[in-house]
Amino acid sequence: MKANLLNYDLSGLTQHFAEMGEKPFRAKQVMRWMHQAGASDFDEMTDLAKSLRAKLQDKAEVGVPALMAAQESRDGTRKWLLDVGTGNGVETVFIPEAERGTLCISSQVGCALECTFCSTGRQGFNRNLSAAEIIGQLWWANKAMGVTPKNERVISNVVMMGMGEPLANFDNVVTALSIMLDDHGYGLSRRRVTVSTSGMVPQMDRLKEAMPVALAVSLHASNDAVRDEIVPLNKKYPLKELMAACQRYLVKAPRDFVTFEYVMLDGINDKPQHAKELIELVKDVPCKFNLIPFNPFPNSGYDRSSNDAIRVFKEILQEAGFVVTVRKTRGDDIDAACGQLAGQVQDKTRRQQKWQQLLVQQ
Ligand code: SAH
Ligand code: SF4
Repeated sequence: MKANLLNYDLSGLTQHFAEMGEKPFRAKQVMRWMHQAGASDFDEMTDLAKSLRAKLQDKAEVGVPALMAAQESRDGTRKWLLDVGTGNGVETVFIPEAERGTLCISSQVGCALECTFCSTGRQGFNRNLSAAEIIGQLWWANKAMGVTPKNERVISNVVMMGMGEPLANFDNVVTALSIMLDDHGYGLSRRRVTVSTSGMVPQMDRLKEAMPVALAVSLHASNDAVRDEIVPLNKKYPLKELMAACQRYLVKAPRDFVTFEYVMLDGINDKPQHAKELIELVKDVPCKFNLIPFNPFPNSGYDRSSNDAIRVFKEILQEAGFVVTVRKTRGDDIDAACGQLAGQVQDKTRRQQKWQQLLVQQ
């Protein structure tokens, strides 16, 4: 089988080239062709000797996932559905803003963690994405949008907030992050690449050593009773442990705060008493809050908090000195909002099995 070169970060590619008897600078050249020029055919890599191109054609490929669909919202949000085999598709969303362009990418086909308010979680789990399938999302979006006339990249930020729990697919995610940050890859700043986790404590510790990028934690509740209900992983890593892991992460993090995401669910976690409890909970963790009005999906069983409830909640946090943003819903008309990424997940039967495996591993 041909090696897919999109699965390697620079150190992996250098090693792979060494095994083929090629010099390290060739790996850098090929990285730049693949990720900066968007090349997927070795014949496009014109500064490589013909003999090397022929060798690569024989032994390797730039295996980009196939594009199944592309959509653009009235507000400029764009969404791509990529084919990841056997009828499965994953979604990637681009959100343009005045000062930045953020790409939201997926890490798994489905998700095993079963947060009750999340459409991806409801669909079950199929498998981890390979590093090539993760970075392939950036490859496609970059290909579609490229650079501005001023030679600035349209994508300035990446958030791993699409389908899946990134830290449950640790190695592939770290490889993809390494390509994002590499000057021969996408050259993104560590501060502008964010991993969002539902709170996998041991993997948060590993990430801070392996690839400390900005961290967002899906908190969603101010006490264990509520969090146990809506984020079942909390039963394994309760809030006290999660707060301690956030503190440890900050020692190495590129930013001096953690972002806490908090989905606003009517009547569940959105009362003033919850906001007050939250202030107490996070008192030792430098943080910002990002309140996410719940995005409904069919048969979710939840309602979005009222605008009034969100405003009051926000004000209580702000009065206590926190920076709070309320996430705007973008791409409504193309179902591109948080938690609405459905993709196509076949063969969900493996969820139960995978979930058990996950618990055993840690
Ligand atoms: N698995 C990771 C990252 C993907 S989800 C995590 O859970 O952090 C990105 C964010 O969207 C998370 O904070 C998630 O809890 C939130 N989310 C999921 N479903 C949602 C919904 N229906 N409405 C609003 N936010 C949702
Ligand atoms: Fe998985 Fe995140 Fe959805 Fe929870 S919120 S089910 S961890 S994708």
